[in-house]
Amino acid sequence: MLRRKPHTLSKSEESLLAQVGNLSQAPTTIFGMLNNADMKFPKVKNEKGEEVELTHGRYIQFLESRDRGVREAAFKAVYDTYGKWRNTLAATLNANVTKNLFYAHARHYPSALEMSLFGDNIPVSVYDNLISTIHEHLPLMHRYMALRKKLLKVDELHMYDLFAPLVDEFDMDIGYEEAKKTVYDSLKPLGEDYRKVLQEGFDKGWIDVYENEGKRSGAYSWGAYGTHPYVLLNHKDNLNSMFTLAHEMGHALHSYYSDESNEYRDAQYTIFLAEVASTLNEALLMDYLLDKSKDPKEKMYLLTYYADQFRTTVFRQTMFAEFEKIVHAKAESGESLTPEELSAIYYDLNVKYYGADMVVDKDIEMEWARIPHFYTSFYVYKYATGFSAATSFAKQILSEGQPAVDRYLGFLKSGGNDYSINILKKSRRRHVDAGPDRASA
Ligand SMILES: [Zn+2]
Repeated sequence: MLRRKPHTLSKSEESLLAQVGNLSQAPTTIFGMLNNADMKFPKVKNEKGEEVELTHGRYIQFLESRDRGVREAAFKAVYDTYGKWRNTLAATLNANVTKNLFYAHARHYPSALEMSLFGDNIPVSVYDNLISTIHEHLPLMHRYMALRKKLLKVDELHMYDLFAPLVDEFDMDIGYEEAKKTVYDSLKPLGEDYRKVLQEGFDKGWIDVYENEGKRSGAYSWGAYGTHPYVLLNHKDNLNSMFTLAHEMGHALHSYYSDESNEYRDAQYTIFLAEVASTLNEALLMDYLLDKSKDPKEKMYLLTYYADQFRTTVFRQTMFAEFEKIVHAKAESGESLTPEELSAIYYDLNVKYYGADMVVDKDIEMEWARIPHFYTSFYVYKYATGFSAATSFAKQILSEGQPAVDRYLGFLKSGGNDYSINILKKSRRRHVDAGPDRASA
């Protein structure tokens, strides 16, 4: 309350702000209605030459097609459609930015970015460091694009080749029983206590495993303080589902440990921390599978899976984060965000992030118009920081063993008993200096 005091207004001002609450939802609602209900995409030809209606759900399937013509047709059709609505979509995005500026100004924050990070008490330097660190490492992304071009054997790599599979169909038929066993084995580095709880989750009905009539899609972990966590899956017998199992059990055990170690008030961890616990399990599973595999084809399949996680979770989400930062800064300095301006910013970012081996098709300049997360401002950077922290933890656990495991379990047990950054700081490796100054310590 004390921390929020400078941003809490008088009773009558707060009352007025509360009354514009519904109104402030309008940009998101209008975008959602247009994007999910009213916009229709044309038909495109699939691999068999059949005309199929393009939908949001089918778009990614088309982009994963081995038939380049199918990928290109779907790509062009999607951005052509968004292009036709460019003025409306720029207006809804503008309205959302204006809303952020309004609240930041009314509540005395220096910027919309600072307001958004204030809730979790994340310093703006974390956001800025993420962007500058990723900039430093863009040559790795560019190298991956060059490799992609080589493996796909194309003269030019285009934006619609980003999701094309790089290796021949590699069939990994993994039943649920085998998936559980593999996940259990792969998490050995986390120690027996962790694995005991994991086994309890497997054995004692925490998990709703298979698809069922009326059951929602996707996967998540949820629970209430005082009960064990629950996990929803829609398990298919493949690699992806095995990673999902490792991921969701990471969330579940995070909740288990944080509930067990904290009072109700402090048990809930933030989204900023949540994806660390889930992604860490995926990293350990990946390490285990790569280590175990003797088949070069299987190894390549796993490595491209891993490389794409870095591309989509770390680099792409940071590019989104940078776009949001630029757009808000421009609005804050009084510049208008025309559709042309939004597209130019977005296009330039793509050129920068994908590098010289990618032919950045003009169509991609409309992608900003189809990202729903841009209506939950300054949120996606957490995917990139979470993945980075998890990768770092995994590296420490695999190289150091027990001391790193202890720090990691300490992290899981912290729940929300401190600010997220402090919790992460407490569990990082202490660099021990063996210099002469230590004599007095
Ligand atoms: Zn997750």
